[in-house]
Amino acid sequence: MKIPSTTTLIILLCAFLLNACSTNDQNRTIITNAKVYTLSWSDPGLDGSPHPNAPYNNGRWIPDASAIVIEGEHIIFVGDEETAFSYQNESTTLLDAKGGTVIPGLVDSHAHPFYFGEDLGKIELTGLSDAESIVQYLVDHQEESTAADDWILGFGYDEGSMATEKLPTADMLTEAFPNRPVFIIGTHGFTSVANHEAMKRAGITAQSPVPVGGDILKDENGELLGIFTNNAAELIEESLPPKTEDDYRNIVLHGMNVMAESGYTAFHDAGTNAEYLAAYQFHEDEGSAPVRVYSMLQATDEELLSEWMQKGPETATGEMLTVRAVKAYYDGSLGIRGAKLIEDYSDKPGHRGVSGEDYGFNEALVEEMMSAGFQLGIHAIGDAGNRDMLNFYERIFDANPEVKANRHRIEHAQVVHPNDFSRFADLELIASMEPPHMAEDMGWAEDRVGSERIKGAYAWRTFREYGVPLTFNSDLTGSDHNFFYGFYAAITRKNKYRQPEGGWYPEQALTPEEALRAYTSWSAYAAFQEEVLGTIEVGKRADLTILNIDVLNVGEQNPDSLWNGRVLGTIVDGKLVFEELGIRN
Ligand SMILES: [Zn+2]
Repeated sequence: MKIPSTTTLIILLCAFLLNACSTNDQNRTIITNAKVYTLSWSDPGLDGSPHPNAPYNNGRWIPDASAIVIEGEHIIFVGDEETAFSYQNESTTLLDAKGGTVIPGLVDSHAHPFYFGEDLGKIELTGLSDAESIVQYLVDHQEESTAADDWILGFGYDEGSMATEKLPTADMLTEAFPNRPVFIIGTHGFTSVANHEAMKRAGITAQSPVPVGGDILKDENGELLGIFTNNAAELIEESLPPKTEDDYRNIVLHGMNVMAESGYTAFHDAGTNAEYLAAYQFHEDEGSAPVRVYSMLQATDEELLSEWMQKGPETATGEMLTVRAVKAYYDGSLGIRGAKLIEDYSDKPGHRGVSGEDYGFNEALVEEMMSAGFQLGIHAIGDAGNRDMLNFYERIFDANPEVKANRHRIEHAQVVHPNDFSRFADLELIASMEPPHMAEDMGWAEDRVGSERIKGAYAWRTFREYGVPLTFNSDLTGSDHNFFYGFYAAITRKNKYRQPEGGWYPEQALTPEEALRAYTSWSAYAAFQEEVLGTIEVGKRADLTILNIDVLNVGEQNPDSLWNGRVLGTIVDGKLVFEELGIRN
């Protein structure tokens, strides 16, 4: 008999002691004291009823594990605490979930988080609503303005309660800052104000042409007041020093951190341009990206698209940054009557919205990207917008059938003609939708489209009934990205004020399980990542979100209590990227 080598002995010993021996140096984390919903059981029926193998009994969900063991980036055990502790070694980190609920990492599958970072280095004027206090605040906080050379930049004064007469003027701002350019903009960007130095640098005089969609205000003598409305702000913004590479890196990092703090382990960036993509790539390479990014390239950045057309899509899964999709716009929004409708707007006869080239939709280029293997996510809101895009997809799939397998998406899919729901299924498209939009639009959406068409609006249940895959998101910063808000809206069809009683077209509500999947496992599918993400299973990446409440049971029994929900921890690739104090032992 051959004498076993030391290595063989160690392997045998390890096999015997299995869990205590680490075969490599990767860190282990054991999560205990948790209500784990793995979502590893089968999808619910199209009416929302849980699959017979779901841990569900008489209207109650039963967590299907209480502990998770992570090694490196991967989940290596899911089950009971006693077995989990047998994996403990000297370098194990223990996480006490304190009875919280652990779910697969939340994904916001249509988001623009760089907007969170765009105001970095500017002075925040929130709550200020008169000229004197704004000027005084700028003077007192001038050292906070670091975004652009010597410019004093401010944002967010309360323009809702403030008519243009109450705004500071160029003279007032110049008195406080005679040599430095000053430019401030209100909460919604309806108004903005510049001082004389800023207007000088932007080359604006009393004779400057007034841009479309905005105005340059003057006094009774025709002198510049320094006040601009809407698009006219761009006249000043264009003269600001360009952002540096560092600026872009800071901006996207800030956005990613906001997502991590909000419980999201990933987001789909719905329109990445070259500058932001370079910044995301930097953080991926440095290992400094706290959350995953699934990038949908901005179709209007044609140079970026041709570059990626050569490279082709990134099909590896589990990376921190994946470039595999393209985002294009086809029509506008319903609120401003930009969405393209088949018949006239109910509250504006003769008007059917705008579409196509007005929104920079370059059909030929988008089609080439699809042929190169990219997924397309196309913004379509109105029933005609959606129908045109269904026709577009159909034509391309007929000509090039293998392109169909790339899980193409319609972003928003907000108003759909009753005849068109089945076409989403036939074309194997994903409906990418925002529960918060329903909650925020319910006050006027029916005015726009009338009582018949509204039945096909924000119609999540109808999509489900036709077997159309859904993914949910916030379109932040267009809507509040708070998960508990989106989840509440999805299952109650109510808004933030818990109205209306009984919900708005409540027959379109989803069940808590469906809503949770639309933010987790179904979002993983929408990004081709279901093999490595989206459920809590051995071998998958450890992307997890820890919540203080059991959203499935609270959602079933007492949805109003969802507003007490908080994120306790966010884990991405096995690393705790956000924690509320105290869960790490
Ligand atoms: Zn968007």
